[in-house]
Amino acid sequence: MSYTIAVANQKGGVGKTTTAVNLAASLAATRRRVLLVDLDAQGNATMGVGVDKSTLKLTARDVLLEACTPDAAIQDLKALNLWLLPANGDMTEAEIKLRDQAAGDFALKAALAAVADRFDFVILDCPPALSKLTVNALVAADGVLIPMQCEYYALEGLSALVDTVAKIRRVINPKLEIEGLLRTMFDPRNNLANDVSAQLLLHFPDKVYQTVIPRNVRLAEAPSHGLPVMVYDPQSSGARAYLSLAGELLRRHDGGQLTLD
Ligand code: ADP
Ligand code: MG
Repeated sequence: MSYTIAVANQKGGVGKTTTAVNLAASLAATRRRVLLVDLDAQGNATMGVGVDKSTLKLTARDVLLEACTPDAAIQDLKALNLWLLPANGDMTEAEIKLRDQAAGDFALKAALAAVADRFDFVILDCPPALSKLTVNALVAADGVLIPMQCEYYALEGLSALVDTVAKIRRVINPKLEIEGLLRTMFDPRNNLANDVSAQLLLHFPDKVYQTVIPRNVRLAEAPSHGLPVMVYDPQSSGARAYLSLAGELLRRHDGGQLTLD
């Protein structure tokens, strides 16, 4: 049984892509079979695992518009024990064309149905908008992981996202759940960050991951080397935090132990 997680937040720069890449790589390091799906025209998740977005022949755009099979576009990144459905600027075309299709909300779900059984986890990196592509991710997902920076406006954006999740659950995808809220780029010396974190724990006591992702320069450097942080610097606080997040997910979803190669 595969479990599909949409990493979503309509705010940009909150750590979605960093989380999608490093959670996928951490789960892969525990020998789970993981498919990382890049749904953002910026192609940051694609570049973050070392694939050049400018030379792609087939992308998630082609899969969503049924121009190719998922298998034709999925890349096997053997060195990372990870599979990638890549994306680049062509995704903007998919976004626009799916808006005109009657079944445009279901394109990703239909595509993943053909391959999901081969994976333990499918991780979807969403664009920074409540767009057609994000709706596709929420329709295809079992759970939504919401990365948040603990700052003043964080909670404001959260209610729009939670409303969207509730609506999609009601109308299209009854199994969809909020998998969890992830505090990212956390600086414990920042009073506001601690206040917002306390608010989150108060309002969503069962939904906030225990794991907190610290602000860590290694996490920001790793993508420029095309590497997940646990390969770039396995001893860094960022690498340890994402491994701990993977452990939390595994305890919830397959009762599994966090064994590394
Ligand atoms: P999003 O996908 O939500 O737009 P990103 O994951 O691309 O956000 O993160 C935005 C920027 O912040 C990137 O430059 C990324 O490298 C950096 N970043 C993300 N998480 C951290 C962190 N925990 N510590 C330091 N820098 C981070
Ligand atoms: Mg991103």
